[in-house]
Amino acid sequence: MAIAKVWIEEGCIVCNACETACPEVFRVTEDSCFVRGTVRSDGVEDVNAGKSPLKDSVGADLESQIEEAAQGCPVEVIKFEK
Ligand code: SF4
Repeated sequence: MAIAKVWIEEGCIVCNACETACPEVFRVTEDSCFVRGTVRSDGVEDVNAGKSPLKDSVGADLESQIEEAAQGCPVEVIKFEK
């Protein structure tokens, strides 16, 4: 089943692992990690606390990378919903 939404909860330790795993979706800044506006319906780049859905154009390849990034996050703050 496709991933509909991805967001970052509080507690990111800016380790950069998610951007390495899936740079198309995650961007790590000095003090947080953001979900890129390019993959979101609302086009905003932030932690996506409002859970804006992913664009329909986000394909299965990226979805598996998002799951990998979530599994690889050492503090488990990357959340997604199918
Ligand atoms: S993998 Fe987790 S802790 Fe590391 S930068 Fe990404 S969201 Fe933050």
